This record gives sequence, structure tokens and C-alpha cells, in this order.
Amino acid sequence: MEKLYDVIIIGGGPAGLAAALYAGRAKLSTLLFEGEKYGGQIALTEEVENYPGAPVNETGPGLVKRMAEQAEHFGVELKLEKVTDVDFSQKDKRVSTSKGDYFAKSVIVATGANPRKLGVPGEDVLTGKGVSYCATCDGAFFEELPIYVIGGGDTAVEEAVFLSKFGSKVTIVHRRDELRAARSIQDKVFNTPNIEVLWDSVVEEIGGDGLVEKLVLKNVKTGELTEVHASEDDGTFGIFVLVGYIPANELLVGKLTLDEQGYVPAGEDMLTSAPGVFVAGDLRAKKLRQVVTATNDGALAAIAAEAYVENEY
Ligand code: NAP
Repeated sequence: MEKLYDVIIIGGGPAGLAAALYAGRAKLSTLLFEGEKYGGQIALTEEVENYPGAPVNETGPGLVKRMAEQAEHFGVELKLEKVTDVDFSQKDKRVSTSKGDYFAKSVIVATGANPRKLGVPGEDVLTGKGVSYCATCDGAFFEELPIYVIGGGDTAVEEAVFLSKFGSKVTIVHRRDELRAARSIQDKVFNTPNIEVLWDSVVEEIGGDGLVEKLVLKNVKTGELTEVHASEDDGTFGIFVLVGYIPANELLVGKLTLDEQGYVPAGEDMLTSAPGVFVAGDLRAKKLRQVVTATNDGALAAIAAEAYVENEY
């Protein structure tokens, strides 16, 4: 007979790790699965300035490492195994990975969201060859090269500032004539001399033989096309696509109610449409996706799972 956990948590970002901490402290037998590496999106972030109490110069990986250690300290089992299937239709819920089936009385889904792609020609084939979705991971490859940042939200604007330390010049390409990013973040851009914003522009195509060498931009107001080419000396340049996220809901389609954007709706009890299954973090339909709101969800989901296991299971 397999072990029946009180709670299985899917996802090792701040939401999952906070849920693990609260479940562990509540003395629930708890197993957490992370498919790639702990931390989710925050592990890709160089600076975490807005998590209360985080020291100045806190990094995403640093914060997450301590979150994982804290959860383990309270008895949570952490496994680096990618979840491939779930079945929430029975009282004992099944969570499967390539290594086997696991069962729990309750499940907390905290799989987060993934970077959105532009869907233009050349993007896929040149990913990792000049096209990137993570400034922290790849910024240093573009030392003294021109860099194009696509997007106008908080991520694009914050990462443009980070990338300006590497690139000879950073050009933010935004499809409208005003940025979506918070005013405080925008101010940093306008105070950084080697950042320029190209308004009303979208990417039509990315080109290059092995490495990015060409970017075709279209002005959405005039329809004018502009081709950017790598200089002969540089040979290439960087394109960082930072245009938001799509919910990581592949496991859940047909199993939980999703909203029209694919997020999981839930109230303050974090309860999904399946009894004993809870959601936490960026995957939940909500207004503000931050580390602080992810950890908030994780704590609430764990407390709700505890109540379910004790009173309703
Ligand atoms: P976001 O707020 O959804 O912004 C996405 C940006 O990409 C928008 O400017 C959008 O343009 C643009 N865009 C979307 N699809 C596009 C396409 N196909 N082609 C060209 N441009 C496209 O995403 P985000 O900046 O990644 O932020 C996600 C969440 O994390 C937000 O809630 C944000 O506040 C939060 N966040 C906060 C911080 C912070 O507070 N320090 C840092 C990072 C992220 P439009 O503006 O025209 O829609």
C-alpha cells in the first residue's frame, strides 16, 4: 500500500514553498514536487526589492533557497520530479510523475505561469541564440552589444534597467505610446542614459543564421517596417521577450474550472472546483502577482488543506 500523504503540493515557487512551510508546521505529512528548480519565476530575478523584510541586495535564488530550507526544517519532503498527470476525481487524489504514482488526501496546485512568446517567425529557432526570456540568466552574454527588450510592463522595464549594465544600448520596444509599468519603475528608465523607448512598435520577424542578426519592427500607427541589423563588428545582438505570462495549467484542463484566461478561480479559502484541491500563487485568478501575494496564497491554502483533512476528508 502506497503512503497516503495529508497534502501534496505541486510547484516549488514562493507559493508552493510557503504552503509547504505552513503545512509542515501544522504537522501534516507533506510532499512537494518541483519539476525543474526551486523558485519558479523569482529564481530568475536578480533583485528582490519589494518582499517585506528582504535585505537590500536580496536575490531571487537566495530568498527561495532559504524558503526551501525552512520548509524542510519543518519536515516537508521536497522532490525534484516533474508531475505528468493528476486525478482529483477520487477521495484519495493521485499525483503522477515519471517515477510513479503518489496519493494524498488534499492537493495544493502552485504551478505558476510561464513567459509568453511573441509567436513571430524566427523566435523559436533563435531562442538561446540571441532570443531570451530571462534577463538575469542571459544578460551577461550581451556585454557591450545592443539589446532590444520587447514589452512595456513591470518586468520589461525593470529588466531593461538591469540589462543596461551590460548592453551598449537598450531599446525598449513597446506596442503602445505609454508604458504599463508602475510609475516608480518607469522613472528608472527615464533616468538611465543608455535606454531608449521605441513607441507603437511590434516585432514582425527575427532573423539570423545561427545567431540573431536581424530584427524586423513595424510601427503599428504608420505600418512602416524597419529592419535592424547586427553591425559587422558585433555580429549579433540580444532580444529579450518580456511580454507577460501564461498560466501553467496543462495538468488541470478538464479537471478543474479555469477562467477564460486559463487561471484557476478561487476565493480566500483557495478552494478550487474539486473538493480538497487548492490553488496558490500566480496560477490563481487575481489582480496582483508578486512574491508577497504568492506566499499569502500558499499560507491560506495550507491552512484550508489542514481544515479539509481534519474535518471533511
Ligand atoms: P504584464 O504586466 O502583463 O505586461 C506585459 C507587457 O507586454 C505589456 O506592456 C503588454 O503590452 C506587452 N505585451 C503583451 N503581449 C505582447 C505581444 N504579443 N507583443 C508585444 N507586447 C506585448 O507582464 P509583466 O510585466 O511580466 O508583469 C507580470 C506581473 O508581475 C504584473 O502583475 C506585474 O505588476 C508583476 N511584476 C511586478 C514587479 C515589481 O513590482 N517589481 C516586477 C515584475 C513583475 P500592453 O501594455 O499594451 O498590454
